[in-house]
Amino acid sequence: MGNEFDYISENLRRIKADIGEACAAAGRAPESVRLMAVTKTVAPEAVNHAIAEGVDLLGENRVQEFLSKKDSYDSSAEVHMIGHLQTNKVKYIINDVSMIQSVDSEKLLGEISRLAVKNGRIMDILCEVNIGGEDSKSGVHPDDLHELLMKASQTEGIRLRGLMTIPPPSESDIFLGRMSELFERYSGEFSMDVLSMGMTHDYADAVRFGSTLVRVGTGLFGARSYK
Ligand SMILES: *Cc1c(COP(=O)(O)O)cnc(C)c1O
Repeated sequence: MGNEFDYISENLRRIKADIGEACAAAGRAPESVRLMAVTKTVAPEAVNHAIAEGVDLLGENRVQEFLSKKDSYDSSAEVHMIGHLQTNKVKYIINDVSMIQSVDSEKLLGEISRLAVKNGRIMDILCEVNIGGEDSKSGVHPDDLHELLMKASQTEGIRLRGLMTIPPPSESDIFLGRMSELFERYSGEFSMDVLSMGMTHDYADAVRFGSTLVRVGTGLFGARSYK
């Protein structure tokens, strides 16, 4: 029997197979890479289909959109915030996400810390790195990363887990390589275990460069009308 969301099942099978192949080629265990479904603009019914098919991690970009959809999501999946987060919006999501991947300033870190402590929890975070040094992108500049990591590792209510990036679309390998180097340089010092990189167009490459978490939207749910 056909289902209107069969394409999601198909896409999911293909993405998992691709990740498996990329892992095999890189001599990595397939379980070493986690797949996140990025849900921006996607209807909750479609998201829930992906969850029913085995997706256990969702990525949210926009606070308003997440708040309007979260009660419709099957609650078995974990949710990470991956979009640029304004300090004054942290309070709306602090108890609904298990990780904030887009931390790029001490100010944001401070607010997450304050609310985590207030809510009696510890928030997992990744520091977002602007690896291409692009003006249009959020993320901390690589030269300022060590300082932010130091700060994050010493802040109450925060558990620093790793790094996240959205590399420039062209010359992707150069930037994936640089992220891989940064992660190797700092993961020991700060006990980091998550390198979040790789989207629809480059997740297999990202796996070659050591990504432990790939964030796929379009490849799973189809094209969006906006990014
Ligand atoms: C939209 C988005 C993705 C997924 O992008 P696709 O190209 O649709 O796979 C991944 N990470 C972040 C931070 C995003 O905003």
